[in-house]
Amino acid sequence: MVGVGGMGSAALYHLARSGLRAVGLEQFSVAHDRGSSHGESRILRLAYFEAPGYVPLARRSLALWHALERESGERLFLATGGIDGGTDDSPIFQGALASCRAHDLAHEVLDGRSLGERYPGFRFPPGHRFVLQSEAGVLHPETCIEAHTRMAEALGAELRCHTRVDGWERDGDGVRIHLVDDDPVRARRLVLTAGPWSRGLLPEGAPRLQVERQVVAWMAPEDPELFEPERFPIFNVDIDGGHHYGFPALHGRGPKVGRFGHLHERTEPDALRRDATAADRALLQGFADHRLRRAGTVESCAPCMFTHSDDTHFVVDRIPGLPVVAACGFSGHGFKFAPAIGEAVARLVADEDPGEPFRTLFRWDRFEGGAGASAPGA
Ligand SMILES: Cc1cc2nc3c(=O)[nH]c(=O)nc-3n(C[C@H](O)[C@H](O)[C@H](O)COP(=O)(O)OP(=O)(O)OC[C@H]3O[C@@H](n4cnc5c(N)ncnc54)[C@H](O)[C@@H]3O)c2cc1C
Repeated sequence: MVGVGGMGSAALYHLARSGLRAVGLEQFSVAHDRGSSHGESRILRLAYFEAPGYVPLARRSLALWHALERESGERLFLATGGIDGGTDDSPIFQGALASCRAHDLAHEVLDGRSLGERYPGFRFPPGHRFVLQSEAGVLHPETCIEAHTRMAEALGAELRCHTRVDGWERDGDGVRIHLVDDDPVRARRLVLTAGPWSRGLLPEGAPRLQVERQVVAWMAPEDPELFEPERFPIFNVDIDGGHHYGFPALHGRGPKVGRFGHLHERTEPDALRRDATAADRALLQGFADHRLRRAGTVESCAPCMFTHSDDTHFVVDRIPGLPVVAACGFSGHGFKFAPAIGEAVARLVADEDPGEPFRTLFRWDRFEGGAGASAPGA
């Protein structure tokens, strides 16, 4: 496996659990802060506005996160409830409502005024509408990755950190994987879970992926009580011309906010701008000033990367004609699904059917020109 981040750690665990001899190659350390899976919090929600087809996967993932909590003894998930909203016709509000209806999820619909009365940290327009769904909350991504990795090793997986993969080629019925600082490795199957670095490792004919710089900000609130997890659910809201999201105060820090897509800056993963600029801070301060109550000033920021597929759905499939499974293009909303993705990767490696939505929504060949591929250098 190349890449032991959010998805790779989960895949390593599920491969080891299924009895396969799995080796994870990671260029940095476990739970590092240079890819897409750092920053102390990730939203998990069932009222999935992107498409109702994700709801069973989110349910399965939540069950698997709880199972991993039991197995590892770590607390990974904190239930806070979640709100998804915007104007009456916003895709976030309408999409979340459609998912609740399609999958019979218990929910309430609130307007901006009643939302503000119940959760006084928010200051959204009275006419906006929100789906409130209780099965939502926050995952701690670094602890999740550490737990998956530790449990994978306990099941016999091998982890090689500080090992950068330079490329790979087909070698008989398997693959030969080239390392930057060591001898090549031969494997019967290759799993690519390289996050924003995926583009450089995928063969010709792969689905297009674009890497985008994101920045999130932690606030230093004037009234910290407003942002306690019991009083401030996770949120996604279409407002002021963008999709904003956020988290309650956790781990001794203030609430965290972000704008999906941020400043729409394309980047290469090794060239990511890692400091926060005045424009980064101004964007997120503006949202907090306008839409949260007494949230104070931006205290710190963290850059991170999204890897978008063209339709914003994931790519998790065997690469046609090659002994390779790819899991990439998580388009800014993948972390919550990591254990279900890991489970599906293990099935794909074993030539088993991963079921829906992998068979349709996440197929490698759903894009024009992505039907087949030849290995680089083969
Ligand atoms: C700011 C931000 C907020 C987000 N919020 C949410 C959220 O609330 N909820 C949610 O579900 N999702 C969210 N996401 C999306 C989610 O975090 C990502 O989809 C997910 O973490 C992607 O995981 P990954 O394993 O693909 O990438 P990564 O975790 O980056 O893992 C890729 C790994 O591969 C390694 N690697 C790459 N190339 C090589 C190589 N050549 N050799 C060896 N190792 C290599 C990297 O070092 C890295 O460890 C957010 C993302 C960001 C950036």
